[in-house]
Amino acid sequence: MDIFFYIIIFIMGITFGSFYTLAVYRIPKGQDITHTHSYCPNCNHKLGILDLIPVLSYIFLGAKCRYCKQKIRPRYFILEIISGLFFVTMAYLLDFSIYTLDKIKILEFSFLILYFTFIIIMAGIDKEYKKINKPVLIYGVIISIIYIVYLYIIDKASIYRYIMYLALYFILFLIDTIYLKKNKKDCYTYLILITLIIMCIFTGEYITVGTIILTLLAISINTIIRKLKSTNKDKQNNNQINIGLYLSIFNIIQLIVVLTYLKLT
Ligand SMILES: [Zn+2]
Repeated sequence: MDIFFYIIIFIMGITFGSFYTLAVYRIPKGQDITHTHSYCPNCNHKLGILDLIPVLSYIFLGAKCRYCKQKIRPRYFILEIISGLFFVTMAYLLDFSIYTLDKIKILEFSFLILYFTFIIIMAGIDKEYKKINKPVLIYGVIISIIYIVYLYIIDKASIYRYIMYLALYFILFLIDTIYLKKNKKDCYTYLILITLIIMCIFTGEYITVGTIILTLLAISINTIIRKLKSTNKDKQNNNQINIGLYLSIFNIIQLIVVLTYLKLT
């Protein structure tokens, strides 16, 4: 019985994954993510239902567009699979099964999915454009505030923690309106700070600190390798590092490791 439940969760995951690829592609271009029809980025042909089945369409079309035969980049496929696996892993780690479906479990699972949606789209855009997208970040802030309200309702003891986060949001928001708007620029580091607060709220301080340490390590190693390999040509290219992408990867890995540890003990 449980296997069918997990298959449904997996299908849900790859469907979300398919939405993530669309969001990463469209949000930075300012395109609508809900209404406009999907189309092939190469030939602009409108895609039908059969072209849009997550994972399966990619396999059966042989990784090509049905109309212009342009190769589809495997990242769409990979992101869908990762999302499906993440949904199943989380359902398993949270003891989410057909027999334990209660209100709290469903809420916990939903919040994790909302958070994962934020992390994946933010990381995807950072990977492609080396930018933290502001509307995506605002989505993250809104769901984290809703999550704080939820946490407060089920656990009134940690109120100082929640107040601290709300105060931090308020301060950063002030900096944005007063200082950054005046200079009309998006400061990458500033947007990373907000991302870290969202991470703290959803995955806790402990995991977030671990995430920062691993990210710093990875960036250092990456920088050393790049220095060793770099030629003069590379130096002229944009050398900014995708901090948002690194943070997301390590955050999700740590979340899975910690939840696995908690389940085993
Ligand atoms: Zn095409």
